[in-house]
Amino acid sequence: MSSNVNEQMLTLGTQRSVIRELFEYGKKRAAVIGEENVFDFSIGNPSVPSPDSVNAAVAKLLSTMDPILLHGYTSAQGDAEARKRIADSLNRRFHKNYSKDTLYLTAGAAAALCCCLNGLCNPSDEVIIFAPYFPEYIVFTKGAQAKPVIIPADTQNFQIDFDALKSALNPMVKAVILNSPNNPSGAVYSESTVKRLAELLDAKSKEYGHPIYLISDEPYREIVFSDTIVPFLPDHYRNTLICYSWSKSLSLPGERLGYVLVPDTVEDCDLVYAAIAGAGRSLGYVNAPSLFQRVCAACADETSELRVYETNKNLLLKELRRMGYHVVEPGGTFYMFPRALMEDDVAFAERAKAHDLLIVPGSGFGCPGHVRISYCVPTERIEKSLSAFEALAKECLA
Ligand code: PLP
Repeated sequence: MSSNVNEQMLTLGTQRSVIRELFEYGKKRAAVIGEENVFDFSIGNPSVPSPDSVNAAVAKLLSTMDPILLHGYTSAQGDAEARKRIADSLNRRFHKNYSKDTLYLTAGAAAALCCCLNGLCNPSDEVIIFAPYFPEYIVFTKGAQAKPVIIPADTQNFQIDFDALKSALNPMVKAVILNSPNNPSGAVYSESTVKRLAELLDAKSKEYGHPIYLISDEPYREIVFSDTIVPFLPDHYRNTLICYSWSKSLSLPGERLGYVLVPDTVEDCDLVYAAIAGAGRSLGYVNAPSLFQRVCAACADETSELRVYETNKNLLLKELRRMGYHVVEPGGTFYMFPRALMEDDVAFAERAKAHDLLIVPGSGFGCPGHVRISYCVPTERIEKSLSAFEALAKECLA
């Protein structure tokens, strides 16, 4: 029987994500036992404020710029001056010479990814996704009528299982999504991993007679710990498209600003850029939020005070390991992805709830047997949660 609505969209719109379920549960529980007694590690909302320069830029724009211009439509791809300032910032930091015309501004990394996937893929093209992955990749890829192909996780260190990747590659593969620093594992793909990936994709692109694009999703680029280096992918692979966002680095997830960068090294870069612009048009994503185009451009060299995430990581890592949890040390982000202490990660996360610990089962990230802890919370909350983690460990390891 045909439905009045699109069945796939109805499912997406009515199925609440596990993360949202937990978040809602946390709010209900907080009303009963007090917010400070719920250890909600479910959601990836930055816990530090934006730098003062963000508010200063907003105030300055509001007081000095013609409001008709400021709040008016910009070009579909974003205001030219804003794109120029963002390109200049990239050029300073990565020693490039990108022009404003390599940038397509979007409402966050989510829209940037959708523009890339819709711009590149024809129906039945395949998109490679490495587990553990940001669950929306599946939704975005299917939304672009392409087929997601999952490469199982290398749980030893959350780099890439190259044997699995090699056996998945075939001429239908149009793109590979790489997310580094990674949500949910916190892993940063090393230079040697990136080089090996680039060599393989180069060889396969030649063999198949068409480029395999590398879509680099990097909203956590600046959230890295100690001396970890995040390789700049266009330095290693010419057909890289970058999806970026200020949601995490400037703590602005609600303001929805990001971009697609199509470096001029990309094969047929003008064509690719035009297809991305076309996807933006077809999805109704033209003209990213106007005020924040200018704010992010003005603050493109800056970040929030991100050090607290490393403090939290160090504290949690040391304590969890002491309690008997197995954790691969994150190189960045504000997530860690320990092994569940029960075979079934969903049952383990459920058991954690009895201690008012809200952690997300790894199954939703394509990596069962693990759980994600989002430690973008005040450090004191982590200190307070340790006895709950310990009680849970004692119960499961007994
Ligand atoms: N990609 C990853 C890996 C993320 O974790 C997120 C958000 O949490 C996004 C993309 C979407 O970010 P945005 O808020 O910029 O749309």
